[in-house]
Amino acid sequence: PVAHIARDPLDPRFDRDAVVTVLRHKHSEIKRQLLDQTVVSGVGNIYADEALWRAKLNGTRTAASLPRKRLAELLDAATEVMTEALGQGGTSFDSLYVNVNGESGYFERSLDAYGREGEPCRRCGAVMRREKFMNRSSFYCPKCQPRPRLRH
Ligand SMILES: [Zn+2]
Repeated sequence: PVAHIARDPLDPRFDRDAVVTVLRHKHSEIKRQLLDQTVVSGVGNIYADEALWRAKLNGTRTAASLPRKRLAELLDAATEVMTEALGQGGTSFDSLYVNVNGESGYFERSLDAYGREGEPCRRCGAVMRREKFMNRSSFYCPKCQPRPRLRH
C-alpha cells in the first residue's frame, strides 16, 4: 500500500495542533516538511513559499527548532493561502494549477513570494531572492525571512 497521506489543511477534520506536534519532531527543513504529503497534504511549492512569506519564516529552518506558536502560524498561513486561491479559482494542488494554466494565471498576480525574484518585498521593500530547493525554486525575502545561522 502507498504511504499514508495526511489531511489537507482545508479538510474540516484537519488537526493543526497534531501536525504541529509532528513537525516538532522533524529534524529537516520546514519547507521540505510542508511539501511532504505524509505530514500535510495539498501544499505544493507555490503555496509553501507563500505561507512561509506570510509567517516570516525561512524554508531552510529546521522544523524541530521552531516554537509551536511559529509552526501553528505557518500552518494557519498555508490554510489562508489555499482558501484564497480556491476563492480565485485556483486548485488545492498548485503544481497542477501551473501545469494547466501556465505561470501567468490570475492567481499569480496575487502572489507575494512565488515568482517575485528581484522585485521588492510587499512588506518591507527588500529585494526578493530565489534559491534552488529540491529541484525547484524557493522565493523569499532575505529581510523578513532570514536564513538560519550555520550550526558550526
Ligand atoms: Zn520583506
